Amino acid sequence: MAAKHAQGAGFSTRAIHHAYDPYAGDGDLNPPIHVSSTYTFPTVEDGAARFAGEQAGYVYSRVGNPTTVLLEQRIADLEGGEAALVTASGMGATTSLLWTLLKPGDEVIADKTLYGCTFGFLNHGLARFGVKITHLDLTVPENLEAAIGPATRVVYFESPANPNMRLVDIAAVAAIAHRHGAVVVVDNTYCTPYLQRPIELGADYVVHSATKYLGGHGDLIAGAIVGPGEPLTEVRFHGIKDMTGAVLSSQDAFLILRGLKTLALRMDRHCDNAQVIAEFLASHDKVAVCHYPGLPSFPQYELGRRQMARPGGMVAFELKGGIEAGRRFMNALRLVTRAVSLGDAESLAQHPASMTHSFYTPEERAAHLISEGLVRISAGLEDAADLIEDIRQALCAA
Ligand SMILES: *Cc1c(COP(=O)(O)O)cnc(C)c1O
Repeated sequence: MAAKHAQGAGFSTRAIHHAYDPYAGDGDLNPPIHVSSTYTFPTVEDGAARFAGEQAGYVYSRVGNPTTVLLEQRIADLEGGEAALVTASGMGATTSLLWTLLKPGDEVIADKTLYGCTFGFLNHGLARFGVKITHLDLTVPENLEAAIGPATRVVYFESPANPNMRLVDIAAVAAIAHRHGAVVVVDNTYCTPYLQRPIELGADYVVHSATKYLGGHGDLIAGAIVGPGEPLTEVRFHGIKDMTGAVLSSQDAFLILRGLKTLALRMDRHCDNAQVIAEFLASHDKVAVCHYPGLPSFPQYELGRRQMARPGGMVAFELKGGIEAGRRFMNALRLVTRAVSLGDAESLAQHPASMTHSFYTPEERAAHLISEGLVRISAGLEDAADLIEDIRQALCAA
């Protein structure tokens, strides 16, 4: 039962109300957390009909649960997709989707810059099972036109890319991929549907680490896949049920439903703080370059304005002093917290060369456009003046 007033409503209204009727059931304002791992059948005939998909109803929570299904409906609606699946982690989303879409002999074309574990899954996981992995600079869509072939099944990228903020023109890449019969998967973790909706721009699937902005409080690990209904049913019954088992718990699904209620408010504040931080860094003499789509000096400033509602909460910058300056800066921080992850209330900083991308060789880092002095900041929700003061003093030590 859907809350009727949420249909056709604005983003925040749908993030709070979509697909839940607070007057139904016991009248809970908040959706109840359904904790059962298994569901009963009134008769064996009902059980058979449910297994055959001929009767609505739940069977077992690895396949579906009322709390996770509500979250799926809400995320699908916010992303403008037909359906969604939630998973135990962002990696669970990517692996469940790609295990379902691919077979030996297929090719994945991915951007040069990827979240480190996605890079690992493609090159150290799928590649062992006969899937060809090709990395291209997808910020130049013509590169895809030149490389795509009949075996290319999936084109995969992030925009902005983690951790160096390069943007990919989603509409241009999707047009090329579709002409050649490939599907496009976009990791939309950095933007969330509040800032960017890849499916409306032509992508086929969106994946998320809901651990980040969707949950928003750094207190859970979760993921989501959004896409067309029929293939996602296949991902549910094959990718998740049989292949990865990456099932989200209903307690964590509830926390994400709670996080979504403030997504728009939080994203606006993250964007406000990131803009102030980026402008400060861009003008600092120890900083070689600051990568932020909200700076007019950003090479893809115009593309950012076209496909993102706002430039986002993530800022990357390169210290002139390389890896040692990166380490000194990190260790001098007092308020901005040294941690991987992003999208939390707390501002977080990480140094890819010594943290997330430390298992790349220096040559791999260079090939994937991650410089040794690159630092990534996830702008939190604190007061901007306090963040600037901390970054200023840490730069003195860098
Ligand atoms: C964190 C992250 C992931 C992986 O998500 P988990 O929830 O940690 O499994 C994937 N992509 C991006 C861009 C991320 O930041």
